[in-house]
Amino acid sequence: MAALPAERSPSLSGPERTATNAELLACVRALAAQGFAPATSGNFSIRVDARSAVITVSGVDKAEATAADLTVINLDGHSFPSGALGGGRPPSAETPLHAQLYRRFPDVGCILHTHSRVQTVASRVFAQAGRVQLQGYELLKAFDGITTHDTTLEVPVLRNQQDIPALAAELESHLADGRLRGYLVASHGLYTWGRDVARARRHLEAFEMLLACELETLRWAK
Ligand SMILES: [Zn+2]
Repeated sequence: MAALPAERSPSLSGPERTATNAELLACVRALAAQGFAPATSGNFSIRVDARSAVITVSGVDKAEATAADLTVINLDGHSFPSGALGGGRPPSAETPLHAQLYRRFPDVGCILHTHSRVQTVASRVFAQAGRVQLQGYELLKAFDGITTHDTTLEVPVLRNQQDIPALAAELESHLADGRLRGYLVASHGLYTWGRDVARARRHLEAFEMLLACELETLRWAK
C-alpha cells in the first residue's frame, strides 16, 4: 500500500492568520505583565481550523513573546513534522490539554492557561474539596451563557500530575458539564477558554477576581 502523503502544516503567514496571532500575542504579553505567567509558565493557544491550532512554545518569557514563539499543532496533540514556526522548539508540554478542549468543543477558539498567585493559592485551598463553587456573584455574568447572578458555576480542581494524558483523562468526566468554563489544577494554575481571544481573556479575568473573592471570604469567615 502506498504511504500516505506527509501532512502539511497550515500556513502561519497569511494576513488573517498574522492578525489573529498578533491578537493572541498581545494578550499573552499583557497577561504576563499582570503576573499571570511568572517564570516562563503558562501556555496559550488559538484555533486555526478543525484540525489544528497555534500554541506558545515551551520555556518562553511570555512578557516578550513574539510570533517566533508560536508553533502549529495537530489537534491530536502532536506537532506538525515541519515544526512550523518556533524555530523547531517543542510546543508546551501541556499541549494535549489544549487539543482535548478544541476536539471536544468546536466553538472554542482560544485557550489560556495561567499560573497567577491567586489561582495557585485557590487551587491548593480547594484541592481537597475537588471543586470551587462560585455562587451569587454579579460577575458570573462575565461568562458566556450566564445571564444572572442567581446561579452557581462549578470549577473542578484536578489533582496535579506530570502525566498529561492522565490529567486529560481525569478532566474527561467534567467535560459533559455544559457550563464548564474553566478548571483548576491543584498547586498549579487555571485553564479557561472562549470563542475568541477577547472572550477567553474576559473569562480569565472573571475567574481571577472571583477566586480572589472566595479566598478573601474564607479569611473573613474565620
Ligand atoms: Zn501549567
